[in-house]
Amino acid sequence: MRNSTARRIVAKSKSAFRDALKYIPGGVNSPVRAFTSVGGNPLFVKKARGAELTDVDGNAYTDYCMSWGVHILGHNAANVNRAVRRDLENGSSYGAPTTLETELAKLITGAVPSIEKIRFVNSGTEAAMSAIRLARAFTKRNIILKFDGCYHGHADHLLVSGGSGLSDLPRSSSAGVPRDFVGLTLSVPFNSCRAVRDAFARNKGKIAAVIVEPVPANMGVVTPRDGFLEFLRRMTRSDGTLLIFDEVITGFRLGPAGAQGYYGITPDITCLGKIIGGGLPVGAFGAAGDIMEMLAPSGPVYQAGTLSGNPLAMSAGIAVLRSILKNDFYKTLNTSAGDFARELKAIARKNYLSFNSAGSMFSLFFSRDEVYDYAGLKKCDLKLFAAFHKNMLDEGIYLSPAQGEANFISAVHAPAILERTLRAFSRALSC
Ligand code: PLP
Repeated sequence: MRNSTARRIVAKSKSAFRDALKYIPGGVNSPVRAFTSVGGNPLFVKKARGAELTDVDGNAYTDYCMSWGVHILGHNAANVNRAVRRDLENGSSYGAPTTLETELAKLITGAVPSIEKIRFVNSGTEAAMSAIRLARAFTKRNIILKFDGCYHGHADHLLVSGGSGLSDLPRSSSAGVPRDFVGLTLSVPFNSCRAVRDAFARNKGKIAAVIVEPVPANMGVVTPRDGFLEFLRRMTRSDGTLLIFDEVITGFRLGPAGAQGYYGITPDITCLGKIIGGGLPVGAFGAAGDIMEMLAPSGPVYQAGTLSGNPLAMSAGIAVLRSILKNDFYKTLNTSAGDFARELKAIARKNYLSFNSAGSMFSLFFSRDEVYDYAGLKKCDLKLFAAFHKNMLDEGIYLSPAQGEANFISAVHAPAILERTLRAFSRALSC
């Protein structure tokens, strides 16, 4: 890895971070933003437009974090801004229903066949947490099966690292979560049919739901092996368990019907977020009507939110979905991202690195071995990743600041931008 010679001046970001540290724990409102895993100082953002992010020191970067996958149309999309400005003129929150909620619900249910009814919340965390409560009520069972390295937000019972294989004594990944709270959560390696089969054999008739990111993007991008998602569908169906696809990242990313459309698997419950809020806080979960009607006020499962279905978030989401559900949006995006991924994979190979991609998401792993689960991610050389990340910043490329995070291509990452990025990758990796 070469030593960078072109470090950018980030004095204002440094000062902003010092100031933030005095008032905000760790200086940030979500941990990975602190650059802890890549070292150095987080860049404080002044503005962003299209594929470009500008920090408070005036440095411009081509962004591949894109607010962690939110901005499929690029930053600051004019049609989204127009819609939000227009609706802001009417007010920002009413605590009463608006037709915007129904409009976004119609767009989503029209695009994702497994979702007949949907409930909007404020974050992906809330979506996953509520989906699990619903699954437990529907099945009248308690146990949840998840996968090591998949992230479903920070609800207590989902902060479980299963360790190696199936664990009878699940450990929480966070302080402050009593063991009893995670005692009903099993975690097994992604892509391992055997581990799933064992978990079902040991807990027959007791597992309420299997929750999975169908294409995990929180251990870097990891793709499901042929037949794995089909296997999950069969196992869950045969044991009366609900299958929850957490599509907070993949929803409206891989295609109009997310990963479930991409792979042709129909889950029972789907969690959404990110793209459907167009940059405003949002989450959602949806399923067939009989499941969703168990929610209050129709049914006994309580779930609520002061700002749920917030008109500005709905408005931004409607504007985004109206753009991306048109014509050849995904064909164009996925073709251009696929070409980029092929070239990047060749660069990775030349440097003895591993590379995964799906649609417009990708991850470069500092490991020679293929990464297909959390144990594979753990083998990566994090020091090399950190040095590479710095080199890329010097090249003017902002990648997601952790080895275990995904990178995203938007519709405005034009071919010239992608070509420049490929050259930057080669330089940043060269000694
Ligand atoms: N589920 C997945 C797959 C995610 O990637 C995330 C966040 O990145 C969440 C849930 C939690 O969403 P939020 O950060 O909006 O709470």
